[in-house]
Amino acid sequence: MKDDGKTKNQLIHELKDLRQRIAELEISDKDRCQAEEDLRRREEINRSLLIAIPDLIFRLSKSGIFLEIIPAKEFSLWKHPGEFIGKNVYDVFDKKIAEQFMHCMKLAVVTGETQIFQYRLAVNEKIHHFEARIKASREEEILAIVRDFTKQRQAEKMAETDPLTSIYNRRKFSELLDQEIRRVERYNRFLSVVILDIDHFKKVNDIYGHEAGDYVLKRMTGLIRKDIRITDTFARYGGEEFVIILPETNLEGAKIQIERVRKIIKKASFTKVGHITISAGIAEFIEGDTRKSLVKRADEALYLAKKEGRNRVRVL
Ligand code: GH3
Ligand code: MG
Ligand code: MG
Repeated sequence: MKDDGKTKNQLIHELKDLRQRIAELEISDKDRCQAEEDLRRREEINRSLLIAIPDLIFRLSKSGIFLEIIPAKEFSLWKHPGEFIGKNVYDVFDKKIAEQFMHCMKLAVVTGETQIFQYRLAVNEKIHHFEARIKASREEEILAIVRDFTKQRQAEKMAETDPLTSIYNRRKFSELLDQEIRRVERYNRFLSVVILDIDHFKKVNDIYGHEAGDYVLKRMTGLIRKDIRITDTFARYGGEEFVIILPETNLEGAKIQIERVRKIIKKASFTKVGHITISAGIAEFIEGDTRKSLVKRADEALYLAKKEGRNRVRVL
């Protein structure tokens, strides 16, 4: 009986213990369920956040296979998202972009640093500009965070372009001339600046109308653009005045080039208007010049060209 009692006592004790452990287990199970639920919810929030931000995310293997795409709001892909998974970067990008992609992926793995590169692609027959930030993740996978910055690029372009002639505006000219001046100061190179002005342009407007005047400005711009070098900067300074930055060009070289431009314009025939002429002033960078002093000298040279009878190029 004693033994039985002990056993009973023991059993009761054990049962109590067991109940306690079960209760604990139930609590921890409840906790686990709660924790899982929290985790799921957090994942959902993260995913919605990822989708809400304008960047699209590709998850790739180190060898360049697409594992997952996390889409982004208002991000148009050039292929259906399903066409990426299991494919290689060479399958979905042009060879050149794919090579760049792979190169950045390798660098990201080796250096541990985020690699950034930009590329252009046609989406629905329109060119889009993208910036990819490539990051190696801890699991030896790659994350490519891609942003479509086409709208910003368009806004930037608009801010630097003259709407009538589609060449650079005065603001961009100033920025580029400042840049050139810094370059010639550092490397002691040649630099010339030209100001061109259409002769008696007011008459063109007065006689043939503003529309004809606009057409002359556009066509003349096209003719000059075709003749100058790709490295030269051509901009509309205002009204019927234009500027050209000629890097690596001294006064003599600039004069030859602008004389050629003057002759091209003189020879050209403009619908309705017929022939026009231009005058130009050229100044070459000298030590101590600023943008203002350089442009001022070119403007003074232009003034001389006008005073001496127009349809000519003067240097200062
Ligand atoms: P000059 O030989 O001394 O340069 O004489 P000009 O008549 O060319 O010079 P002026 O400064 O008296 O007149 C410039 C004219 O350019 C006045 C304006 O009607 C015209 N102009 C300026 N901007 C535009 C434009 O965007 N479109 C048109 N059609 N005409 C413009
Ligand atoms: Mg004029
Ligand atoms: Mg003028």
